[in-house]
Amino acid sequence: MTTGISLGRAGRAVLDLLLPTCCAGCGAGGSPCCSACAAVWWGLVPVARAAVASGPPMFALTRYRGVARRLVLAQKERGRRDLAAPLGAALARGLTSLPASTGKGDVHLVPAPSRASAARLRGGSHVLALARHCAVGLRNEGVRAQVAPVLRLAAGARDAVGLDAEQRAANLRGRVRVASWRLPEPGARVILLDDVITTGATAAACVRALREAGIGVVAVLGLTVAG
Ligand SMILES: [Zn+2]
Repeated sequence: MTTGISLGRAGRAVLDLLLPTCCAGCGAGGSPCCSACAAVWWGLVPVARAAVASGPPMFALTRYRGVARRLVLAQKERGRRDLAAPLGAALARGLTSLPASTGKGDVHLVPAPSRASAARLRGGSHVLALARHCAVGLRNEGVRAQVAPVLRLAAGARDAVGLDAEQRAANLRGRVRVASWRLPEPGARVILLDDVITTGATAAACVRALREAGIGVVAVLGLTVAG
């Protein structure tokens, strides 16, 4: 008699819950992002993109490659929700070194919007999860911060993977919507957050939509920058 066990998707999900946490960057056991891999987030790189040349200053913590890329993809595509806390904390650390995060009044963190269909598949917007943990990290540093999830991507936007700068801009044109009933007050310090800055088309479309709603963005911060 055979007693082999075949694990379906549900079985694997249960197994994931039972297995000890491992680092999504290197596989080491013990935490979602080990201290060695977390070191990739300690920098702050100014990002220059033609799409936002006349917009607010833009920064990323590091390049979109190696460990950083694996961590971003794990949180975004592989259901590693346990990464939102360490990655959000990394964004908070980056923000505290930006002049834009100091001053009077609250910092308002606006997550770059995900396509609704993609967010549904992932169980919610992964950038919103990052922003929530970033706000916690800022508050721990004594910075008053709140999350303002005011941007939506209207139906019709395609997955941007494989699109060039012009196609990305066209893909987003007129599709970033602002939920005007929950906007920060004019003059608030608004920071746009994203996971990967590629051509800057997303940031540019978000900054434009917010500006048209009377809200100025003081800085854009991404976890990573491609290229
Ligand atoms: Zn690691």
